[in-house]
Amino acid sequence: MPLCILNFEELEAYYMNENELLLLKLGEVVLKGQNRRSFEDRLTANVRRRLKSCGSFEISLRQSTIYVEPTAHHTGGMEDAFRAAQQVFGVVSVARAVPCGKNVEEIAKAAITYLAGAFAGAKSFKVESKRADKQFPMNSIQISQAVGALLAEAFPSVAVDVHHPELTVFVEIREKYAYVHTPAVPGAGGLPVGTGGHAVSLLSGGLDSPVSSWMMARRGAELEMVHFVSPPYTSQQAQDKVMELARLLTVWCGRLRVHIIPFTEIQEEIRRNCPEEFFTLIMRRFMMRLAEAIARRANAKALVTGESLGQVASQTMAALGVTEDVTSLPVLRPLIGMDKVEIIHTAQRIGTYDTSILPYEDCCTVFTPRHPATRPSVEEVRKAESVLDVEALMARALEGETWSWVKS
Ligand code: ATP
Ligand code: MG
Repeated sequence: MPLCILNFEELEAYYMNENELLLLKLGEVVLKGQNRRSFEDRLTANVRRRLKSCGSFEISLRQSTIYVEPTAHHTGGMEDAFRAAQQVFGVVSVARAVPCGKNVEEIAKAAITYLAGAFAGAKSFKVESKRADKQFPMNSIQISQAVGALLAEAFPSVAVDVHHPELTVFVEIREKYAYVHTPAVPGAGGLPVGTGGHAVSLLSGGLDSPVSSWMMARRGAELEMVHFVSPPYTSQQAQDKVMELARLLTVWCGRLRVHIIPFTEIQEEIRRNCPEEFFTLIMRRFMMRLAEAIARRANAKALVTGESLGQVASQTMAALGVTEDVTSLPVLRPLIGMDKVEIIHTAQRIGTYDTSILPYEDCCTVFTPRHPATRPSVEEVRKAESVLDVEALMARALEGETWSWVKS
């Protein structure tokens, strides 16, 4: 069945790929037993929201697969949607596919037109079939053999090689149609945002906290961001950088609320009244308290930080204990066991790296002690802090809080 037997409409459809759609495979969501329905609904809604800016699509879920089909109003190709679908948590793989009738001839015809370019560049191929519709009269091996035979006829210079083929043609027999596609690319994995509870993430301008936020969003957490600013020690550019990091995260997390909390008075009071070796620790205790206050208000159930064991003096085991002493919420630290190199790789992969390395100061780097305590005890830090009017300082910081939505 060479290309020239196709009629004009079929050829045009091939060049335009106008029947092309996306097949999104669900990951752990399918394991979720009784909650499965709400997980699937959330995931479908998240896909819909993420793909809104990529065109006009009909999005539906059938048999653990989300179908993204362009509507008659859709203009442009599927490239943007293909990329965006890879950023939705809960999706394990994304394939571009074409639908066809559920018989061997139509499947082969679809593969010949849709994959002509791929066949032109390959020396060998195989067909791999899956049969979601168990009523279909052939099993998957029979389908692969029959379609493979027709493709071998159509592309005589491309050999069949079932062990190490250069090109694998995937065929799926589903409810209404069969589908032909090339290998799927990995999706973002994880669980749909919104299925893992609501948490407040402490977002600084550094490399770590955008990555820790991304990691918790990947486990389904819906995040609310908190950032502390200390003007005039920290600049407007530093704050803008954090807003930009939040914006970069929205392609993964959906829109984000960012709370900005003034921190100057607290830092100055600590510097004036507390022993220098505890500056950072006491400051971090205030951050936790304030983040918890925001969390309680938003009914969020956990805090997220970018801390990693041993990375700096305030992240030794003893220091982490001192920091979380002031909150009764779980403190989630997804980077705790990660090396800096792994964190950097993740930052590059998720698109936050270039912004994170812009050289603006964070309030953590203002008033850093020359010799920070690395083995502090909770008691000694509580005592050192007891000279401060914690309640009043917190109340004033929260009074100055502002927030805004960040969207892509
Ligand atoms: P990062 O690269 O995320 O800035 P870091 O290694 O520089 O982290 P610290 O500065 O000690 O570490 O901060 C530890 C964590 O505390 C950060 O990952 C972040 O979650 C939180 N944090 C630090 N500074 C701020 C800030 N200005 N606003 C909000 N959270 C902050
Ligand atoms: Mg930092």
